[in-house]
Amino acid sequence: MRIIAVLNQKGGVGKTTTAVNLAAALATAGNRVNVIDLDPQANLTIHLGVEPESVEAGSYGVLTQSADFEHELMLVRPNLWLLAANINLVGAESELVSVLSRETILRQALEPLKDKFDYCIIDCAPSLGLLTLNALAAADEVLIPLQPHFLALQGFGKLLQTIDLVNKRINPNLKVKGILLCMFDSRASLPNEVKADIEKFLENARQTNCAWSQAEILPVHIRRNIKLAEAPSYGKTIFEYEQDCNGAKDYEKVAQFIHAQSTKPTQQQPQETRSEEQPPIPSHTEPQPAEHQQ
Ligand code: ATP
Ligand code: MG
Repeated sequence: MRIIAVLNQKGGVGKTTTAVNLAAALATAGNRVNVIDLDPQANLTIHLGVEPESVEAGSYGVLTQSADFEHELMLVRPNLWLLAANINLVGAESELVSVLSRETILRQALEPLKDKFDYCIIDCAPSLGLLTLNALAAADEVLIPLQPHFLALQGFGKLLQTIDLVNKRINPNLKVKGILLCMFDSRASLPNEVKADIEKFLENARQTNCAWSQAEILPVHIRRNIKLAEAPSYGKTIFEYEQDCNGAKDYEKVAQFIHAQSTKPTQQQPQETRSEEQPPIPSHTEPQPAEHQQ
């Protein structure tokens, strides 16, 4: 199971829209997917057509260790299971203050499910509190949706530092894999400038061992598309709401890109070489053609 936390502590950047539609596209492609709503706003739950009021324990129950994860999962679409949120989640952070190992409760709860799913997508709240720490402690990777406007990078450093801290102290597997530009308008110059700034920033981290040294801006952007804003109020994914719109096409491509990473053999890192002359490993190595057999 590949666990992806969708996180940016900025509000309204496209986290929930990304979590829902990425999960839906992966499930439609035949993967077993579970999505976790870790936001007391319960937007993901609502977006998938479930009333938060009808959720008894959900993610709150799992985090307060009063409910079993698997028991709480709801099958909401073929191949797609939801651990829903309700308003009780607001209180979880303060209730857990004195609980030992409170940052790793979700990780422990997910452990027995590793073979049952191909993907777990966690929709985080716009904060870096205890709920988000649980997501980061459990995840293999972080996908950062980012809206490329002029304040986009404000807080970005803090976000990466937090991820790096969790990586060093709690979860050595954790990496920032991708940055997804959402509500992107390629005709405007500012989004392209923001994009160039991020690329420069990521480039500087390539040879370091920080948690974002392998991060890249996904080659697919999510264009601004009104259908993506309308779909949640019908409790539908974009593929159910308007199969042929740009939003559906963009999220389909994101899912294909992310799934292709799962099937690619992982890149070999060089063995502790000390030579400064080593050429950098290209980030997009194409699969080599099979060797000719005699
Ligand atoms: P929060 O931080 O509050 O959880 P979020 O980061 O999860 O917010 P979303 O809820 O996904 O952000 O998106 C914010 C708003 O923008 C929503 O109304 C959503 O429907 C809309 N939206 C998301 N992506 C797009 C897009 N590409 N085009 C147009 N509207 C979009
Ligand atoms: Mg959200």
